[in-house]
Amino acid sequence: MRRLRRAKIVATLGPASSTPAVISRLFQAGADVFRVNMSHTSHDRMRELIGMIRAVETEFERPIGILVDLQGPKLRLGTFGGGHVELKRNDTFTLDADPAPGNATRVQLPHPEIFAAAEPGHTLLLDDGKVRLTVTESSPKHIVTRVEVGGRLSDRKGVSLPDSTLAFSALAAKDRSDLEAALDAGIDWVALSFIQRPEDIAEAKKITRGRAAVMAKIEKPQAVNRLDEIMDLADGLMVARGDLGVEMPLEKVPGVQKQMTRLGRRAGKPVIVATQMLESMINAPVPTRAEVSDVAAAIFEGADAVMLSAESAAGQYPAEAVAMMNRIAIEVEHDQNYRSIISAQRAEPEATGADAISDAARQIAETLDLSAIVCWTSSGSTGLRVARERPRPPIIALSPNVATGRRLSLIWGVHCVVTEDAHDQDDMVNRASRIAFKEGFAKAGERIIIAAGLPLGTPGATNMLRLAFVGQDTMQDE
Ligand code: PEP
Repeated sequence: MRRLRRAKIVATLGPASSTPAVISRLFQAGADVFRVNMSHTSHDRMRELIGMIRAVETEFERPIGILVDLQGPKLRLGTFGGGHVELKRNDTFTLDADPAPGNATRVQLPHPEIFAAAEPGHTLLLDDGKVRLTVTESSPKHIVTRVEVGGRLSDRKGVSLPDSTLAFSALAAKDRSDLEAALDAGIDWVALSFIQRPEDIAEAKKITRGRAAVMAKIEKPQAVNRLDEIMDLADGLMVARGDLGVEMPLEKVPGVQKQMTRLGRRAGKPVIVATQMLESMINAPVPTRAEVSDVAAAIFEGADAVMLSAESAAGQYPAEAVAMMNRIAIEVEHDQNYRSIISAQRAEPEATGADAISDAARQIAETLDLSAIVCWTSSGSTGLRVARERPRPPIIALSPNVATGRRLSLIWGVHCVVTEDAHDQDDMVNRASRIAFKEGFAKAGERIIIAAGLPLGTPGATNMLRLAFVGQDTMQDE
């Protein structure tokens, strides 16, 4: 089975999509990667979902990516006597360490790191930004605030601090235990929530030790300010527009999205655009025109993947939402302006053999209008570097490692086939041609270009390009 588009689709699983039948339907509709959100999933449920996804993988003989999204350090208020209060503009409201039920003048904030970091003038956003406070006084035991935007506040609502860098790790105890369980279950990508600094990625990588790729969710202004350093350490970025839009003015989010997709393209690492892409499809079979335009804009930008959250996890039309994204991506990629937009953002190759070969493969494939670029890649790194070129012909990555195939399922334009390493140069050419034919990328008599490393089976040694004709039974070199 091959996709008719380059951009990939990530579908979040949840109550609406936790059975083998629905997961299979989502895959057939176009989902390339499934996301499991640990904010709402127990370890047992996660293992069950992973089992269902792997069964679909076996049935369709295609590698499927699994992205486990950790909850991260979620900050919450304490409780109120009576369950809620109403705050009014210009009220004085204190947050302190006292666990006694709160009222209209004070409430517990059980995170001492916030008292240490908040300074007069800083903003506190409560309940996804519905209530806004400004710090007027801070001490190690409490902070006093003025209510800028009032509203109803109830027990244990979330707290965001867009101006303060907090002295805690992006991996809370729950995240560490979720991560260990997910790695044991054989996931491919882990997403870190609410990271603030590059050290947060380094900390996660010490735990993953290569067992899963690490995706940095960018949802805090502190992380936006250090994007380059975070990108250096992470294996990919997610534009987590939900929380980003709480912690930053909404109108700044599209610019950050553009900055991130360009940064990912330059680095040759994947970027996922996430949240509210087809939000109205939670309850309706057809999205709004603005939502279609939003998905299209992400595809025109060359994002590796677009993501569904509640639409596929808890909506009434999960498969329809995936199918809609699939149709939008196919249409945009055939648009007359698509190639010129994608080419205009092309980053120069870095001074490495792999980049020089990838650049040359793209040029030759485009000049000769070849049917596919086939690369032999053990770790997946050659697949990533060829995808960075955003070539017009499709990319087929051949890898002996199923883990590589699963990770590459998120990458723009890459169709990965798991196959044992080539035995010799003839086998390398013959099998590449046969697979390109069998997978529906090239017809008999058409040509492909093959990138590989000699000696065969040496990771990171991509140093060879070869043109080959595709034949049904016998393959003949050019
Ligand atoms: C987001 O905030 O956009 C996001 C993807 O994170 P979550 O769904 O975990 O809140």
